[in-house]
Amino acid sequence: MIAGGGTAGWMAAAALARVLSNRTTKITLVESEEIGIVGVGEATIPPIKRFNAMLGIDEFDFLRHTQGTYKLGIEFVDWGREGERYIHPFGVYGSEIDGVKFHQVWLRLRAQGLNIAYEDLCLSIVAARNHRFTPPNPDPRSPLSTLDYAFHFDAGLYARYLRRYAEAHGVERREGQITRVTQRADDGFITALVMADGTEISGDFFVDCTGFRGLLIEETLHSGYEDWSHWLPCNSAVAVPSARTTPLLPYTRSTARAGGWQWRIPLQHRTGNGYVFCNNAVSDDEASATLLANLDGEALAAPRFLRFTTGRRKKAWVKNCVALGLASGFLEPLESTSIHLVQSGLSKLIALLPDSSHAAHERDEYNRLTTLQWEYIRDFIILHYILNARRGSAFWERCAAMDIPATLRRKIDLFAGSGRMFRYDDELFTDANWSAVMLGQGLVPARLDPLAANHDVDHMIGLLTQMRDIFRQSAQQMPTHEGYIAQHCQGLSA
Ligand SMILES: Cc1cc2nc3c(=O)[nH]c(=O)nc-3n(C[C@H](O)[C@H](O)[C@H](O)COP(=O)(O)OP(=O)(O)OC[C@H]3O[C@@H](n4cnc5c(N)ncnc54)[C@H](O)[C@@H]3O)c2cc1C
Repeated sequence: MIAGGGTAGWMAAAALARVLSNRTTKITLVESEEIGIVGVGEATIPPIKRFNAMLGIDEFDFLRHTQGTYKLGIEFVDWGREGERYIHPFGVYGSEIDGVKFHQVWLRLRAQGLNIAYEDLCLSIVAARNHRFTPPNPDPRSPLSTLDYAFHFDAGLYARYLRRYAEAHGVERREGQITRVTQRADDGFITALVMADGTEISGDFFVDCTGFRGLLIEETLHSGYEDWSHWLPCNSAVAVPSARTTPLLPYTRSTARAGGWQWRIPLQHRTGNGYVFCNNAVSDDEASATLLANLDGEALAAPRFLRFTTGRRKKAWVKNCVALGLASGFLEPLESTSIHLVQSGLSKLIALLPDSSHAAHERDEYNRLTTLQWEYIRDFIILHYILNARRGSAFWERCAAMDIPATLRRKIDLFAGSGRMFRYDDELFTDANWSAVMLGQGLVPARLDPLAANHDVDHMIGLLTQMRDIFRQSAQQMPTHEGYIAQHCQGLSA
């Protein structure tokens, strides 16, 4: 049983229908049109390609139906200091040289006179800045092999697309409001969802995708909530679509504002915009006025407000219920990680799919891995706030001075010392991600890695100059993002 039919519910329905295609398992999804969906999650990260591949979805078909575009990374504007901008790219910078990480090589050469920006050594960024797109080339000798990408799409159309897929794979959809949840008397396991008209829909395993309220995981099973708003104080968002503009950018933009930040997500038929803010720092009226004053196209609807508390359910899996999506917690969309968390929750659920024994140690493993994953992503998001150098704003100065989790402190200290970094456990973000944001927001290591001194400086400067030139040429030879979409995946109703 899947309760809820937003992005999380239909992703769960599609994935479970795909892997449980033996027809002995019946999957039912209950959703209420009257309640509706949150409908704002429209930017993704590269692993979503694996999700599509698992479902067997054709990329062009998916982009046509969701008015989707390509995403090479996120541009951060005014996050370090006002007036500065950098792109956190998908895809890599340069390449490791003799076992020395590329950022270390670049830092060493820069100290010895190299005059090439870090950004110019990443093809994803060079392509993004030139509004170009082409898919990666699997041949490791090609510069195009260093590219990676994700998508932007219309959240409402995405849910509809997955619904068609799931229904075609045998998922039954029930419309209506769940008013009550029944539990087994002896152990509290959920037995059925009771609908407004009194119908009971029973099941043996439940996926809670009911959004922020967590109808099953919290209101019924009382998982508990770990509040992280002392680290991530934004608690509101105001969103508005605007008319599409050209050129069609192949990246998301995040611009720091007085009490938070503004997103810009380019789609084929419109641009998605929103201001994520802390309502202790700016009022709703101020936030809405700032958002409307900073659109680059005509607003297409009235601004819509959302409230949230950043944090996560203490246990995402309780008894015979797993929570996915907003029901499992909330991390602001600064790095577009929520849809990914649904995807990775589903992979773990599939790997640990319970039988009638409902083994507690499998539940525990799911919860342990989920906790780690959320915490690493949380740390990466906090990194953007702690490294801000914006002054003259109480909100940003408080963020720069806050106490941070020990796990993040260790990462920052290691990098600030000699540019060292390690990828822990199964964490989502890699060295390239961390170094992009750290260097992008002005954290330059105090000392140089001695291993990076082993190279001949002139030879290395020559190599990097050649790399920059090749990336420039490669980007110029790519089609424009707009042209690539027009050729392959023009939106169906655009
Ligand atoms: C401001 C903002 C921006 C975001 N941007 C991004 C982004 O760029 N990238 C990203 O990855 N994520 C983003 N997210 C997160 C993303 O929107 C969500 O992770 C995603 O949409 C999943 O939502 P959901 O399906 O869990 O919840 P919802 O969309 O809220 O769906 C809940 C479902 O439960 C149903 N339901 C609830 N109660 C009942 C009931 N009693 N009876 C029957 N049905 C019920 C509803 O009808 C609905 O179908 C953003 C979130 C916010 C708030």
